Amino acid sequence: MYDYLIVGAGFSGCTLAERIATVLQKKVLIVDKRNHIGGNAYDYYNNEHILVHKYGPHIFHTNSHKVWGYLSRFTEWNNYFHHVLGYVEGKLIPVPFNLNSLYAVFTESYAKKLEEQLLQQFGYGDKIPILKLQQSAHGDLQFLAKYIYDNVFHGYTTKMWELTPENLDPSVTARVPVFLSRDDRYFQDIYQGIPKFGYTKMFESMLQSPLISVALQTDYKDITDIVSFNKIIYTGPIDAYFDYMHGELPYRSLRFDFRTIDTELEQSVAQINYPNNHLYTRTTEFKHLSKQSHAKTTIAYEYPQRYDKLVNEPYYPIPQHENTELARKYKKEAEKIQSTVLFCGRLADYQYYNMDQVTARALSVFEHTIAQS
Ligand code: FAD
Ligand code: UDP
Repeated sequence: MYDYLIVGAGFSGCTLAERIATVLQKKVLIVDKRNHIGGNAYDYYNNEHILVHKYGPHIFHTNSHKVWGYLSRFTEWNNYFHHVLGYVEGKLIPVPFNLNSLYAVFTESYAKKLEEQLLQQFGYGDKIPILKLQQSAHGDLQFLAKYIYDNVFHGYTTKMWELTPENLDPSVTARVPVFLSRDDRYFQDIYQGIPKFGYTKMFESMLQSPLISVALQTDYKDITDIVSFNKIIYTGPIDAYFDYMHGELPYRSLRFDFRTIDTELEQSVAQINYPNNHLYTRTTEFKHLSKQSHAKTTIAYEYPQRYDKLVNEPYYPIPQHENTELARKYKKEAEKIQSTVLFCGRLADYQYYNMDQVTARALSVFEHTIAQS
């Protein structure tokens, strides 16, 4: 008899399993239909013994002292700062577009003029979402906003979502705002890094309590009649839980193409974005993240895909008003059964959460709901 059946062994499921076992001393069965723990943050050593992220680049960053402190109980960190370059008009320029990017694309005198105008209208260190910059810019800055929109956002966003930036919730492109700074890092959070021995090792450490049992390659639907438990915590797609009773929620999927080559390092930074070239959006060279030394290197090419539940995985909720409204209907269904089933996670909440946000959400569900019941 288990106190909790947790569906999904990603950040959400592992955090809740660990808290329930450690703090409440209760028995947990955590299941995942995949053949590994870690959800989309799973990493592993490939055939060439290079540590890769199976579901695309995962860089941990947070401003939450609480989340950083919590995860640091299970891993050390390697002090990594993410750098991204965008391939624009034959050049590699810093992304997010910043003051250094200005000088990379324009002549020095014109870049200086644009920099002065930017700093007159905004402040040094400001982060301006591209859709906002387009609205507020005049004269040369209007030209600049259009340049950035056309060369950095339009192609990438259309490839990634099959939608233009205006047709998505503005928060999507605001994740990568124009940054009035010389700081080339992709994130400015206080805490940043990659688990020193990989994400999977961190998850193993989270699940090590004897009160936690793990069953892989197990769809929870196949065991609910066989196993007894008091409550379910569900971290998969919310529409699937309710058998799509209000219709399918849209998700975006990806295909990853991993290539290992006989070179020590191929890219100057971990990630290169291709807004305007190729069918893939970005390439990631994992050795930059892990700091592993190896004679060869592996790079992942990311190809955005339409999601089909019979064919591929739902990686991203699609942030659009009508989808949020549909998700709300499912959340109403979830409320009706909240005494026996809790929903928590990127797909269960239908929210474009980063890893720190799903961890914060799981900790909050534990403290405010589970520990109180
Ligand atoms: P998931 O990791 O999706 O875990 C849910 C699990 O539930 C899955 O393993 C699934 O197999 C399982 N499941 C579903 N249905 C069932 C069922 N019926 N039975 C059993 N098991 C089931 N975040 C960052 O902070 N930084 C990054 O750099 C970053 N990069 C990303 C790159 C990509 C390409 C993607 C897709 C996401 C990225 N993220 C990043 C987001 C991060 O992956 C998520 O926030 C986090 O992994 C979500 O954790 P979760 O536990 O909520 O969900
Ligand atoms: N984006 C873009 N060009 C870039 C980088 C990002 O247009 O060079 C847009 C795109 O719509 C993307 C979104 O900003 O989906 C969020 O980017 P982020 O790097 O946060 O995506 P994630 O890592 O979550 O896939």
